[in-house]
Amino acid sequence: MKAEVISIGTELLLGEILDTNARYLGARLPAHGIDLYYISKVGDNLERLAGVIERAWNRSDLVITTGGLGPTEDDLTREAIGKVLDEELRLDGELADQLREFFARRGAAMPERNLKQAMLIPSARAIPNPRGTAPGWWVERDGRIIVAMPGPPSEMERMWEKEVAPALESRADAPRSVLVTRTLKTTGVGEGHIDEMVSPLLKSSNPSVGVYARADGVQLRIAAKAGSRDEAQRLIEPLEAKMRAILGDIVWGADDDSMEQVVGELLRQRNLTLATMESCTGGLLAHTLTNVPGSSAYFRGGLVAYATEMKVEWGVDPEVIAEHGAISAECAQAMSRAVRERLTADIGVGITGVAGPDPQEEKPAGTIHIGIDAGFAEPQSFSYQFAQGREAVKRRAVSIALAMLRRTLLDEQGAGAP
Ligand code: AMP
Ligand code: MG
Repeated sequence: MKAEVISIGTELLLGEILDTNARYLGARLPAHGIDLYYISKVGDNLERLAGVIERAWNRSDLVITTGGLGPTEDDLTREAIGKVLDEELRLDGELADQLREFFARRGAAMPERNLKQAMLIPSARAIPNPRGTAPGWWVERDGRIIVAMPGPPSEMERMWEKEVAPALESRADAPRSVLVTRTLKTTGVGEGHIDEMVSPLLKSSNPSVGVYARADGVQLRIAAKAGSRDEAQRLIEPLEAKMRAILGDIVWGADDDSMEQVVGELLRQRNLTLATMESCTGGLLAHTLTNVPGSSAYFRGGLVAYATEMKVEWGVDPEVIAEHGAISAECAQAMSRAVRERLTADIGVGITGVAGPDPQEEKPAGTIHIGIDAGFAEPQSFSYQFAQGREAVKRRAVSIALAMLRRTLLDEQGAGAP
C-alpha cells in the first residue's frame, strides 16, 4: 500500500511549529507494511490544500492528513476533501449531538462555529476523538482511502493508535512485508569505537544495522523486514543478543526507554533515595527525574541554588567557594554532599557550571561540573566543556548527570566514568 502524508497549517510553513505529526506517522507506517512515499506541508488555503490533496489522491492508495479540522474559518480540510471528491458536506445530526454533549460535560455552551466539526460527505465516516472536539474522517472511494486527523499531537496520536492503525491493519494487502526496528541506546563510548566493536554485525543486510550518534549517546538500530511482525522479531532477536554481549552495560536501554526511567528503576530496586542541588541547570535535572510517574518513591527533592549565597545557605562550605570558586568540581562535590545531608537522601547530586553565552568567573560558557555523593561510594565529580548554546548545555549536563547516576548505581563501588 502506497501512502502519503499531508500536514496542514500555515504555522508549519512559517516555522512556528515543527511537523511532529509527519514524523510520528513516518516512524509508524513501515511496521504496518505501508510504504510512505511523500510528505507534504501546505497552508490554510482552500485552493492550494485541495490541489495537494488531489495530487495525493491520484497517486497514492492511502492519504493521511493532519490538521485543519478545527472550528475556525481557516480550518479547511473537510471542505478541501469534499471539493476534490466533488461531494457535498452535510451536517450529521448524531455528530452534532455528540459535540453538544462534549461542551455540556465541560459546562459550556457550544459555539455555532463548532457545528462545522459535525459535517460529513457521503464517502466519509467519523472517527471518534475523545480528546477533542474534532472527529476525524475516514473516507473511502474507488478503492482508495483518505484519513483526516486533527492537528494537536495528543489527539492525533490517540486516533492513530486506537482507531486508524487497527483499521488499516485489518485491511492491509497480503502478502506484504513489515519493517520492525529495535534501537539499542548506549552511553559513554563514541560512535567510531562502537562501530568498530560491532563491525562484524554491520555486514548483515536483513536485519540491517545502523549506528547513529545522538545528543545523549550512540544508538544502534536493528531493522528487519519480514512477512509478519513475529517473523521480523525472530530475525532481530539473535542479532540483538550478540550486540548486547559485545557492548555489555554501555547499553542502557532500548526503543522508547529514557535514562531517567532507567535510573529510577535502579534506585527503586536498590531501595535508595536521591536529592539534587542545581545551579546552572535551574532545576532541569529535578524536572527530568520527576517526568517519570511514581518518582516520589525515590526522589526526595531538589534545590535550585542559583546564587552563590544560596549554595552557602543550603550547606556548601564557603571556604570551598572562596578557594575554588562556585564554578568548580569542588563546589559541585560540596553541593552534592550538602543536599544529600539536608534532604536526608542516600545519594546527592550537585551541578554547577556556565550555561552561557557569557563566561563567568573567567570560566568559558559550556563549563559543567557534576558531583555525586553516595553513602556507599567514594564521592565523585566530573567536569566537561561543551561548545553548544545555553539550552543544549543545560540538557547535556542533565543527561551526563543521569548517566553518572546510572553508573554509580550499577557499580555500587562507584568507580568509573559514565
Ligand atoms: P488544527 O487542527 O489545524 O487547528 O491544529 C491545531 C494545532 O495542532 C496547531 O495549532 C498545532 O499546535 C498542532 N498541530 C497541527 N499540525 C501539526 C503538525 N503537523 N505537527 C505538530 N503539531 C501540529
Ligand atoms: Mg490549523
